[in-house]
Parts: sequence; structure tokens; C-alpha cells
Amino acid sequence: MPIYSYACRDCGDEFQTLVRSGETPACPSCESEKLDQQLSLIASPNKGGEVDSGPACTPAGCPACPGMMN
Ligand SMILES: [Zn+2]
Repeated sequence: MPIYSYACRDCGDEFQTLVRSGETPACPSCESEKLDQQLSLIASPNKGGEVDSGPACTPAGCPACPGMMN
């Protein structure tokens, strides 16, 4: 089960949580569901650099995307 990192848009809290498909996580501090999903740095293989939030890319065609092709 993947762990995703989120940043709350309402209170700015950052947290990681397990997310099952179909579930919407909520901020543990204020219970807001206005969250920005961060690229998970926890479950990703270490490729020696952080991935910045750039344009979306397709996992199948992007060797630079960590953790997308298990
Ligand atoms: Zn919050």
C-alpha cells in the first residue's frame, strides 16, 4: 500500500498517510480535504535527487520518474 505525502492547503500541515484507492485523505490537524499531494519521497527508490513538481509525464515513457514502474 503506497504512502503519500500531503500538504494541507488550509493549515499548511504536512503529513504522510496510507491511501487506499477510492479514499480521500484528510488533514490530521484540521480535517480539511483540501490537500496537495506531494511526490512521495519515502517509497521511492533513491535516485540521488529530489523530483521537483514539473509537468506531468507518463510513467511508461519517463525513466526519470521514480517508483512509477514497479
Ligand atoms: Zn490542515
